[in-house]
This record gives sequence, structure tokens and C-alpha cells, in this order.
Amino acid sequence: MSDSVVLALDVGGTKLAVGLVDDTGRVLASRRAATPAASPERALTALIDDLIGDAVTVDAVGIGCGGPMSWPAGRVSPVNILAWRDFPLRDMLAERFSGRPVRLLNDAICLAIAEHWQGAGRGVRDLLGMVVSTGVGGGLVLGDRVVAGRTGNAGHIGHVVVDPEGPVCGCGGRGCLEAIARGPALVAWARERGWAGADGKELAESARVGDGVARAAFARAGRAVAVAVAGAATTLDLSLVVIGGGIAAAGDVLFAPLREELHARARLDFVRDLRVVPASLGEQAGLIGAAALVLAGERYWPVD
Ligand SMILES: [Zn+2]
Repeated sequence: MSDSVVLALDVGGTKLAVGLVDDTGRVLASRRAATPAASPERALTALIDDLIGDAVTVDAVGIGCGGPMSWPAGRVSPVNILAWRDFPLRDMLAERFSGRPVRLLNDAICLAIAEHWQGAGRGVRDLLGMVVSTGVGGGLVLGDRVVAGRTGNAGHIGHVVVDPEGPVCGCGGRGCLEAIARGPALVAWARERGWAGADGKELAESARVGDGVARAAFARAGRAVAVAVAGAATTLDLSLVVIGGGIAAAGDVLFAPLREELHARARLDFVRDLRVVPASLGEQAGLIGAAALVLAGERYWPVD
């Protein structure tokens, strides 16, 4: 193993992942498990125990977790992890790994960081990274530096309103992008129209083989993402949007209607050449981005 080994955590509403990452951003080993409804902190501790055993020396800890959160204190209240409200996740790790840096940021911000550092966003100064999955999140890198915002929650594009009369959202609002484009919302929308499958993966498969309702569900999500992206790009003058997550993994059935709608919406010269691409680091992106919080200098950790 290399000189500096970071313990990286990627904590989401559907899955927990932990990994050991070296100082070049390579994931040396990792463990994954479903996020249990009760006491997810116990499952997380068990995964860490299994990963590091007694032999590994951890130099620092980087954590990506679903939002919202208080930051940099790292108390988390993820919309999709109901067991945690104002849960002291950073402190839990800081106690175990005392004396070492322990940093926590939003998981979608970590994806944006990972893609900027090692993936599809390398060499791009201004980008938005998005996750379209069980939830919809985002993170910004502007001028080659992560933008955390006043409370660490900048980039929450999932809760930008794309349809003022749209469905009620988990955040308490209405018509948010997440309420329309999150995986469970696509599945529910398709089932109401006669599609008989159970989850987002099956829905993507149905869309790929030409099922009309499934294709329409992804097209609807893609158009909603485009509306939010057009707004963000116009506000922030971006060059690139990188989209990861399970729903984005469906590929063209999402990206084709997304790009078409974006082209129709983003008409000013400086947004017309905006590129929207799939994330390139796959399921490791969350771990790589979390590790970058402690590995890649001030550009990915704007406080200290
Ligand atoms: Zn919302």
C-alpha cells in the first residue's frame, strides 16, 4: 500500500459503501451493504471493521453523505435515511479515528469532486455534477474549486422547482426535480400507466427494449432534469454537467430527451454549447470524491 491511506465512506439512502483509497485516488479495497432502516450507524461500523481489520493504518477519513446536513460539523439529516436526524456522523468517526482529519460533505458534491479530479470533468473549470438515483442531488466545482455554500448544501439541484403544480416532494415542497425524476417516482408513474415491473433497473430494461410507457417515464425525467440544468447553467455559466446514479445509468433513454429539451430551453449563446455527459467513474465515484476531501488539497475542502 502507498504512504497515505484514506478511509472513504459513501453513505446513501439505498446503500452504504466504505473503501481504502490511496493518494492517487485509487480504490484499494471496498465493502458495500444495503442501508438498513434501523441503526444504519451499526451497519456502517460493521463494514468498516470488516474492511480495515487490525492491520491497516488509516491516516484520514473522508465522508460523503446524503443531505441536508450542518457543515462543517457534519451532523446529517438525509432525506432518504429517516433514522438519522441531526445525527453526529462526523463526530462518530472522529472519535474512532481521533487525531486524524475527518471531513464530511454532501454525497453529490463528492461525486462532482470525483469526476472533476479523476473522471469526465478532468481539466474542466466549471461543472455541475449530478446524481439521479433514489434521490436527485448535485454539487458544483467553479473555477476549479468546490463550492460548498454557507452551510455546505450548495448544489441541491434536486430541490429546484421544475413544475410549480407538480407532485409533492419529500422535502415538503412541491414540483421539485427530485419529486419527478427520482427512481421511485419514475417507477410509480409508469405503474400508474400499466407498466408491471418493480424497480428502476427493470424500468430501464423495459425502456431499452422499446416499452412505450417505460420510455415515456425516462423521457419525462430527462425533460425535468433539462429544465433544472438549463436554469443552473444560465445562472452559473457552466461548461459541463456530469450525471451519475442508477437512473442515469439507463443511458440514452434518459440522455436523448434530456439533451433535446435542454437545446430547446437553453437559448443564450453562452449556454448553447453546454455539454451533458454520463459520469465515468461508476459506483466508485462516491468513495473517490470522499477521499479527495482529505487528499486533494484546499480546492476540495474550502474551510479549515
Ligand atoms: Zn424537494
